[in-house]
Amino acid sequence: MSSAPILITRPSLPPFEEYTSLIQRIWENRWLTNAGPLHEQLAAELTQFLHARHISLYTNGHQALEAAIHAFCLPKGSEVITTPYTFASTTHAIVRSGLTPVFCDISSDDYNIDVTKIGELITDKTSAVVPVHVYGTPCNVTEIGRIAKKHDLKVIYDAAHAFGVEINGRSVTEWGDASMLSFHATKIFNTIEGGAVISSDKNIIDAADRYKNFGMQGYEDFTDIGTNAKMNEFQAAMGIANLKYLDAKIAVRKELCRGYTGLLQDVEGITLLKRSENVKSNYAYYPILIEDAYPLTRDEVCDKLTENAVFARKYFYPIVTGYSCYKDSFASSSSPVASDVSKKVLCLPLYDTMDLATAEFIGDILRKEA
Ligand SMILES: *Cc1c(COP(=O)(O)O)cnc(C)c1O
Repeated sequence: MSSAPILITRPSLPPFEEYTSLIQRIWENRWLTNAGPLHEQLAAELTQFLHARHISLYTNGHQALEAAIHAFCLPKGSEVITTPYTFASTTHAIVRSGLTPVFCDISSDDYNIDVTKIGELITDKTSAVVPVHVYGTPCNVTEIGRIAKKHDLKVIYDAAHAFGVEINGRSVTEWGDASMLSFHATKIFNTIEGGAVISSDKNIIDAADRYKNFGMQGYEDFTDIGTNAKMNEFQAAMGIANLKYLDAKIAVRKELCRGYTGLLQDVEGITLLKRSENVKSNYAYYPILIEDAYPLTRDEVCDKLTENAVFARKYFYPIVTGYSCYKDSFASSSSPVASDVSKKVLCLPLYDTMDLATAEFIGDILRKEA
């Protein structure tokens, strides 16, 4: 173990030569962006990897989420049920699309949308649900699907954390009307910056494809007031190179998570993320909750780790409704579980070049204080 600071995450990188041999092709064919050959290759590989019907690659996950929302032509001003326990991007995408977010509280079991509380939020203005698979744990997709069908709502998943996650052998992106994935540098699979819309409906993917290219249809018409959010060839090359190693890197993360769990599972006052048997996890995050029974508060634990050059992160804290741009419009008090979890949560460092000794060093600090 080195004495360098231990960061919350470090991006996955492929062997340098594998990346350069891919980008050599960019010099050979002078195709930099606009659905180039590497873009097409990555799209094909991801379609297979994710058992996806259709995919549209994006320059980042946020734009992909806006595109997915846009593709359903939801009535302007209609209400979209979502959660405040997420990254700003989820809410921003709804608001920037001219829709009104309605915040549903989360479940304390998995930090995902509490499906028992969705029904009471549905009005005749509700058009969609945008749930988040927080930390890669799948939402209760069956119940969400049932509610959506009953009330004729679209379901668009923010699956930014859930790349490679499977429920009973099926990709989590098979549920809902569409899913957004993020391939940002800090995510489990990266294309430097990047993202995708996945859907089994070809029309939705065609709409997403037009939207990322200014709404262009053919060479002479624009059918839609789109944006510019295409994935370029350098990003695609990084994705192709990284995808080959993903399974091996998830296996490393799984071992590190086991190391943490071995040390922390019997510590009073620390709650670990529950994992379920039928879910193949991607081990993207290692969140813990520092409960009242622990001698230190969450913030004190965070400081203690920092003293040891360990940089854990309060992710997600605060909840979205606590941000300056939302706090005057939305009350955090209507999401008591989300507020409570956000005050207790700490994500521990986890990345594929971390060694087990580092996880044990961090786990030992938390055990010693208990
Ligand atoms: C990362 C992330 C996003 C945004 O993805 P980018 O690729 O960074 O634009 C959206 N939602 C959640 C939950 C995320 O973690």
